[in-house]
Amino acid sequence: MKKNIVVGNWKMNLKKIDAINLVNNVLSLELLDDVEVVFAPSSIYLSKVNEICSHYSSVNTASQDISFNNNGAYTGEVSAEMVRSLGVKYTIIGHSERRDYFNETNKELKKKVDLAILNDLKVIFCCGESQKQRESGEYFHYIKSQISESLFHLDNKHFSKIVIAYEPIWAIGTGKTASPDQVEEVHKYIRGIIKDRYNESLAINCSILYGGSCNPSNSRELFSQKNIDGGLIGGASLNPQSFVDIINSF
Ligand code: PEP
Repeated sequence: MKKNIVVGNWKMNLKKIDAINLVNNVLSLELLDDVEVVFAPSSIYLSKVNEICSHYSSVNTASQDISFNNNGAYTGEVSAEMVRSLGVKYTIIGHSERRDYFNETNKELKKKVDLAILNDLKVIFCCGESQKQRESGEYFHYIKSQISESLFHLDNKHFSKIVIAYEPIWAIGTGKTASPDQVEEVHKYIRGIIKDRYNESLAINCSILYGGSCNPSNSRELFSQKNIDGGLIGGASLNPQSFVDIINSF
């Protein structure tokens, strides 16, 4: 069954005490039961945040990335196996900041996806076009290549572990949100290509999240669209009340 999911991507923010306070503050507020909440803190806080979340049903954690190797001499890297050993359920893969600043390609991301699946992590796979690609109209083609080159080698069973996050780069951290119609159009398209590659049931059951300057004043309208199953939230997830308002806007 497709779930509504709201993920807070804290990126490289917060000192340890602030991270602990943030998760505790969110969890002290009333949250809708039927929305899965996922916190994606820095990997050095993942163990602690996961321990706090483990006392709540429907509250989970994600790493913001994993290494493209499973173990070995890769100084500074964090592997899928390490993340899973903490009891963490998800990993984000392919965030546009990783694609841009660390030159992550669809081919490398495919390797990360396989390692996540091998280690029983669910994947929040990010895709989305630049402003230039949106304006030139090539965004459908670009998004299709991101998804097909990194995910469509998976069999049906493994594809069921994938959550897609559509994040137009021009909307991330810019305060410029994509309109509900623009997002719905792309989400519908993504569901269509999943149906074509797999089947209708996998397409219907795949949660497709939106990310890009989502906040309490636009989340209700976004989440009321048929094909928008939640959000990947950056900036607004650092404020407990804003994050909870977003979660509760379904
Ligand atoms: C993100 O980084 O995934 C994101 C959506 O950020 P923001 O909400 O700040 O635009």
